[in-house]
Amino acid sequence: MSQHFLLSAKARTISEVEVARMSEDEAREVFESLRWSDTDGEPVCSHCGCTESYVINTHTPSGKPVRRYKCKACRKQYTVTSGTIFASHKLELRDYLLATIIFVNAVKGISALQMARALGCQYKTAFVLVHKLRASLMDNQEEVKLEGTVEMDGCYVGKTRPANRKEDRVDLRLASNANPNKRCIIVARQRAEDGTNFSGAVATKTFITKGEYTSTINKIATANITKNSTVHVDGASAYDDLEAWFDMKVGDHSKAYVGENGECSNQAESYFSRFRRLEYGQCHHISPLYLSNYANEISYREDNRRLSNKALMLDVARKCMNTPTHNEWTGYWQGNKRVAERLIA
Ligand SMILES: [Zn+2]
Repeated sequence: MSQHFLLSAKARTISEVEVARMSEDEAREVFESLRWSDTDGEPVCSHCGCTESYVINTHTPSGKPVRRYKCKACRKQYTVTSGTIFASHKLELRDYLLATIIFVNAVKGISALQMARALGCQYKTAFVLVHKLRASLMDNQEEVKLEGTVEMDGCYVGKTRPANRKEDRVDLRLASNANPNKRCIIVARQRAEDGTNFSGAVATKTFITKGEYTSTINKIATANITKNSTVHVDGASAYDDLEAWFDMKVGDHSKAYVGENGECSNQAESYFSRFRRLEYGQCHHISPLYLSNYANEISYREDNRRLSNKALMLDVARKCMNTPTHNEWTGYWQGNKRVAERLIA
C-alpha cells in the first residue's frame, strides 16, 4: 500500500527550525521575491512604480534592522511591506515568515494564544497577526464558479448550552430562546473527479448566514455553481428548490450516508469536521464578526491539503504581499475594528 501523503518527505519540505535560523536579510529576500516577482525580487516603488532606487539600511526606534528603498523618480521611501497588509510592521520580517510556517503547519488552525507563545510576543500582537493571515486568504480567493459535482450542506456555530438545572432549561429550538450569536456556515464543495471515481474535493466556498433558508440557499447556489451541475445534499427541505437549476441527488442520512444512487455529502461533512476541530480544539470561541474569515481559512486548508508545507508557506506569504493594508487590522487595539459581520442575507 502506498504511503499516506502526509507521512512522505514531499509533505515536509521546510521546518520551523530552518525559518527561525534564517537571517533577517534572507527573510526579507523571500518577501521581496514574492512581492516583486515580475522583477525577480528587484524593488519596485510602491508610490510610482519606478524600479530605480537607493538602498538605505537603517534601524527601527526599537533597534530592529530594516531596509528602506528611496525611489530615484519620486524620492519617496518604501520597504517591501509598504502598502501591504504587513505595512508598518513592528516585528522582524523573519518573525512574519516564522508565523506563516507555524500557521500552515497547524492543519486544524491555530489560536492567537498559541501563536503568542511560539513567537514570544504579546497576545494582542499575535491576535492581529493571525487575523492578517486569514484576511489575506480571504482577499485572494479564486473567483470561479464551482462545476461538475458539488456537495452542499450547512453547520451551526454558537449554539446555546442547556441550563444546569432541569427546571431552568428552555426549548432551544424556538427562535426566541436561540443564542443571538448562532450562525450557519453553508459550504459548497466541488469534487475532484476522474471519470467515475473521485478523490476528495478541490474547491470549497463558504457563506455565513443566520440559518438554512430556501431563499438564501437559492441565492448562494445560483451565484456560485454552474447551471446543470450535479448537486448532492442531505434531506433538508431548504435545498428543494435547487431542482430548477441543477441535477439533484438527495441523500437520507437516517438510512445511509452514501445512498443507493451515490447520493452523498461526505465532502461537506469532511469540511465541517476540520472546522469543528478549529472551533472546539483551537479557538474555543469564534466571534460572528470574523466567522467568515475562519470558515474561509478551513476551506483553504482543505483544498490545499496535498501541498507541501514550504509551498503553503510561500503561497500564504505571497497572498499577504498581494493584500493591501487593511483598515480593520491597522490600529485594532486602538479601537479600529470591523463593525458589521459578513452575512449573506
Ligand atoms: Zn517612486
